[in-house]
Amino acid sequence: MKKTDYLIIGAGIAGLTTAYHLKDVGKVTVLTKGKLRQANTYWAQGGIAAVLTKEDRFKKHIDDTMDAGAHHNNRDAVRHLVEGAPKAIRFLEKLGVKFKKEPAMEGGHSIARIWRTTDFTGQDVLDHLVKAIQKSKNITVEEDAEAIEFITHQNSCRGVFMRKKDSTGVEPFLAKHTILATGGLGQLFAKTSNTKASAGDGLALAANAGLEFEDLEFIQFHPTALAVPDDGRYFLLSETLRGFGAKIVDFQGKSFLEEYDSRAELAPRDTVTRAIHFEMMNGPVHLDVRYLDKKEIKQNFPNITKRLKQYGYDLFKQRIPITPVAHFSCGGIPVDLHGATKLPGLFAVGEVACSHVHGANRLASNALLEGLVFGRAIAEAIEKSKTIDEKTSIDETIPLTPPKIIMEPLAQVQAYAKRIGNIMWERVGIVRTPEGLKTALREITEIPARDYRIQHRQIVCYKMIQAAMARDTSLGCHYIAKTAL
Ligand SMILES: Cc1cc2nc3c(=O)[nH]c(=O)nc-3n(C[C@H](O)[C@H](O)[C@H](O)COP(=O)(O)OP(=O)(O)OC[C@H]3O[C@@H](n4cnc5c(N)ncnc54)[C@H](O)[C@@H]3O)c2cc1C
Repeated sequence: MKKTDYLIIGAGIAGLTTAYHLKDVGKVTVLTKGKLRQANTYWAQGGIAAVLTKEDRFKKHIDDTMDAGAHHNNRDAVRHLVEGAPKAIRFLEKLGVKFKKEPAMEGGHSIARIWRTTDFTGQDVLDHLVKAIQKSKNITVEEDAEAIEFITHQNSCRGVFMRKKDSTGVEPFLAKHTILATGGLGQLFAKTSNTKASAGDGLALAANAGLEFEDLEFIQFHPTALAVPDDGRYFLLSETLRGFGAKIVDFQGKSFLEEYDSRAELAPRDTVTRAIHFEMMNGPVHLDVRYLDKKEIKQNFPNITKRLKQYGYDLFKQRIPITPVAHFSCGGIPVDLHGATKLPGLFAVGEVACSHVHGANRLASNALLEGLVFGRAIAEAIEKSKTIDEKTSIDETIPLTPPKIIMEPLAQVQAYAKRIGNIMWERVGIVRTPEGLKTALREITEIPARDYRIQHRQIVCYKMIQAAMARDTSLGCHYIAKTAL
């Protein structure tokens, strides 16, 4: 029987940070659904927010986070996040990540405090974390290992049942503590910036174990992705571009954001997204950087410039067509400041968790930070309780009833996933209506899937729609119109 002290599900910034900090506490195993680096973390562009300059203050970062989150955040949790940020940056620097000397600006921040390496900061960060993990004798990584159900006994989590790629069976993996770090759920929507791995799996596991969610109605839609679908996702055009002066223009090439918010391009994401959504009803919307200093843009956005070329666009010669996309889940499984969930033995960290730091709308560059700060906090809490842990060794005699999984042909699964994506995008997207949500709930439930992967998507969508229906006034990125526009 497979067993480990600390079982981490997910290999993004949250999972690997937790793994790294636990490496001297006990035996750590990281399961990941695909290969290492197949995580949203790898695609993060902008960077990590942290107060590290003389002009900046913790209070300013806290206030900016609370303002972006429509004050639905928990101030103590936000303080924990913000005060942990400098240490988180130093931790990455110790691993070898080399941040630029000057911080960048992003929407919703009152001062430049985004620390980045290039315009693909996530890749640098994840590469360094992966290297550090691979060097640690106490950490094992199992790729192509998908967690599909928690093992619970006497109201506590004892590990997971997992399925290896290409297998139709499941096997148990027991642990003293299980740490869920499965990331977001963007793939539940037809248009998303998220990788294929981000389909809300962790939330489905939690729902099936009877856990409740908080703030699941707050799905952040990023305003500026390239309006060209690519293998199930849309390539993001970082917010930092707007920090450097990029403009968003309507089909006639005119700026319009000031009509919606005096901060214009630097307003928080929900405001910019909705403005673009409404403007797109008149025609396509574009990002325009042509009048900016070419050398500066090339220097600061080498990867985005290159990637756009591959898509056939020249940032310096033409306007780039953009679309909002589902980007980030602000809510999830509620956790305390140490990542503990209501199920003993289970922690949650990163995008799958609701640590109450984002409120109703996440401030840019606070997500990677959340994984770093809360990942460390979980490890510290586990280390502190280790003396108690040692008495409770893994019980291999508990009854194990593996779930019976049904797998339908891949084409059928993909067709169901597409149907769900369209329903969610149309009815549970940027602008919601009570009628649309009701219809979505019915349509999602009516999909006759038997495959567990689709049933997992259905349960998460169902919970999200219910949460959206329960909040009948707009707040942050949950925008509800009384009737269809
Ligand atoms: C394009 C893009 C750009 C972004 N830019 C920024 C930015 O500049 N700054 C910022 O702060 N945030 C940014 N974000 C948000 C941020 O990247 C994510 O919120 C953060 O990386 C989430 O980290 P995570 O570790 O929780 O999840 P992820 O990095 O998504 O990792 C999840 C892991 O869980 C695994 N997994 C999923 N389901 C299972 C399962 N059933 N069994 C086993 N393993 C599973 C996945 O394979 C993956 O390894 C961006 C997001 C995107 C998509």
